[in-house]
Amino acid sequence: MTHDVVIVGGGLVGCLSAWALAKTGASVALIERTAIGAGASSAAAGILGAQVEPHADSPAARLGLASRALYPALVDELRELTGLPVPLTWPGTMRAWATDDEQTASTEALRAYESLAWQRDAGHRVELLDWRALTEREPALRHSCRAAIAFPDDGLTDPVVLLAAVERALVAAGVRTHVGHAVVRVDAEAGRARGVTLDDGTSLSADHVVSCAGAWTSLLEGIPETVRRIRPIRGQMIELELSPPPTRSIVFGAGGYVVPRDDGRIVLGSTLEDIGFHDRTTAEGLHGVLSRALALVPELKLASWRRAWAGLRPASADYVPVIGPTPIERLWVASGHFRGGILLAPITAAAVAALVRGTDPPFPLAAFSPCGP
Ligand SMILES: Cc1cc2nc3c(=O)[nH]c(=O)nc-3n(C[C@H](O)[C@H](O)[C@H](O)COP(=O)(O)OP(=O)(O)OC[C@H]3O[C@@H](n4cnc5c(N)ncnc54)[C@H](O)[C@@H]3O)c2cc1C
Repeated sequence: MTHDVVIVGGGLVGCLSAWALAKTGASVALIERTAIGAGASSAAAGILGAQVEPHADSPAARLGLASRALYPALVDELRELTGLPVPLTWPGTMRAWATDDEQTASTEALRAYESLAWQRDAGHRVELLDWRALTEREPALRHSCRAAIAFPDDGLTDPVVLLAAVERALVAAGVRTHVGHAVVRVDAEAGRARGVTLDDGTSLSADHVVSCAGAWTSLLEGIPETVRRIRPIRGQMIELELSPPPTRSIVFGAGGYVVPRDDGRIVLGSTLEDIGFHDRTTAEGLHGVLSRALALVPELKLASWRRAWAGLRPASADYVPVIGPTPIERLWVASGHFRGGILLAPITAAAVAALVRGTDPPFPLAAFSPCGP
């Protein structure tokens, strides 16, 4: 069977890309080895941290801001189409300085605030909070932190619910999903992609192939060696329960972060481990995540335990996403979204649809070229 497009990988990037393409009228097949969202996407906290994550102005930082702006319409469309209300809230993020020395904390916060002029110039809210302002806003930080920078427009979604809604949308849009099959090879002829071969030997022919295989992208046979390598970076996570949540904002600091959900679940993250394809939790990793979160928000010592898990973030050498054409005609890559793939998936999907359809991408993509800038 021939499709216009085969998408490899059913994470959020692959699913939203498949949906975006199907909405343009393309016939799309999506191949997912394990289950929709089984990779990094369902391991994510769901922070839409377009402002808290980037430390400097860059194309990737601007990509994040543009993608965050797409979320309200995405969630509305999914709700109308599937009936599933995907959580999307705007609790804001905050980078807090957890130190006893108020002078050092204030100096560091001020320095960071000054380096964020590019966000303020672009019209995004950034607030410098001294200890008094911080403790008024987040009393649970009164004994641990001395200063903070707040980003009131950063958001939060629940990736598991989001993926469930997108999976329904794929069915409604007529995308053929092949779950439980791995792509072993991208097939090409005379320098042009022709389709893929699956692990049971089946060949699927297609006019275009898009690799959205996350941390596993570079393992796919047929991806040219000149395409930037993607490697896995493990992140271990903990979920607790405490109602009411100790903070309103998502708080970053002391080497970790604390994400309060409206239903009393609190997500604690995360490790950053460059150790290959090992996706299990470890005693040391979870101990680190828990102790950093308790140092940041001491009230969490009263919370009850729910669960822990780990996921593999897809990372390029410089942690910049890889989105665009490869030296093989009609073979495209959308991967390497590292810590921001939930945030970046909507704009990446729009870019993939534009690339494949030959229309103008929603964003300049030169900085994300699979073969380097
Ligand atoms: C612990 C943790 C916390 C995170 N928190 C956040 C956050 O708060 N906010 C945020 O924006 N980002 C966050 N991220 C990052 C985000 O999860 C990733 O950047 C994003 O999910 C990547 O999506 P993806 O679709 O590219 O990859 P994945 O979700 O990994 O999907 C790739 C899919 O491809 C499939 N696959 C691989 N090889 C093949 C093959 N040969 N054939 C068929 N299928 C194949 C895999 O099974 C997998 O399902 C977090 C990541 C982790 C690990």
